[in-house]
Amino acid sequence: MRELVVLGTASQVPTRTRNHNGYLLLWDGRGYLFDPGEGTQRQLTYAGVSATQVHHICLTHVHGDHCYGLPGVLSRMVLDGVTHPVHLHYPAGGEETVRALVSVATPGLDLHLHPHGAAGEVAPGLEVRPLHHRVETYGYRLVEPDGRTLLPHRLASAGLSGPDVGRLQREGRLGDVTLEDVSVPRRGQRFALVMDTAPCAGAEELAEGAHLLVAESTFADEDAELAREYLHLTAGQAGALAAAGGVRTLLLTHFSSRYADLTVLRDQAEATAGGAAVVVAHDLDRVPMPRRREVRPPS
Ligand SMILES: [Zn+2]
Repeated sequence: MRELVVLGTASQVPTRTRNHNGYLLLWDGRGYLFDPGEGTQRQLTYAGVSATQVHHICLTHVHGDHCYGLPGVLSRMVLDGVTHPVHLHYPAGGEETVRALVSVATPGLDLHLHPHGAAGEVAPGLEVRPLHHRVETYGYRLVEPDGRTLLPHRLASAGLSGPDVGRLQREGRLGDVTLEDVSVPRRGQRFALVMDTAPCAGAEELAEGAHLLVAESTFADEDAELAREYLHLTAGQAGALAAAGGVRTLLLTHFSSRYADLTVLRDQAEATAGGAAVVVAHDLDRVPMPRRREVRPPS
């Protein structure tokens, strides 16, 4: 199962309906918790997910709305008896803050600290790219390797079934039949998370080919001056980012508390998003990963 559980969608000031940030990506039995802001522990309960489902915690940067929930979540994991290793990823520039937050959590977790200071892979399939904000900030993406989808009718006409199919997949050829003969290319799924940033190359790289892009959309287009000053995206800029990357679904989040009606932001993002579906995130939403884009099998 691959889905995103939205735990919070507010920037800076939480509201009655929007908690500070928090996003739990459930991906093949592993959990990636991004930017646990204040209140994340309780939001997990509301969302019906458990802290024990978390294996990686990924901070984009150490502003409070993205990390003040860390001690609570870590302590809860100890209380719930988590024994598996937990990996904490964060920008190296946030070391002091991260250590302070970790130091007040209940000890006893098998916690591994992984600071990063450059673009690259920080865990299997998990990559970071630098963003452009007021403190050192990195966005994340999770990339499944490209693969191939087997075509049952081709397998049948080649007379292959059972263990032969597994052997063909491992060895690439079985007698006269190659794997290419009985399958089509399948693009691996891609999830990307672009938090606090002005438009930048790192954001574009993360968005490239994403099936699901979670992007901050702090300001409406008419507040572009504020977005420029505080290094954030407007809704229109988030849409343009999705369009440039050929994104399937754009999930807008990290809203300023000044907007009671988010349909304006959605409309502005839609106007620039090209073929991407635009969705406004609400606390406790569950967003399934959009299906992979498959090459049409020749008949
Ligand atoms: Zn923020």
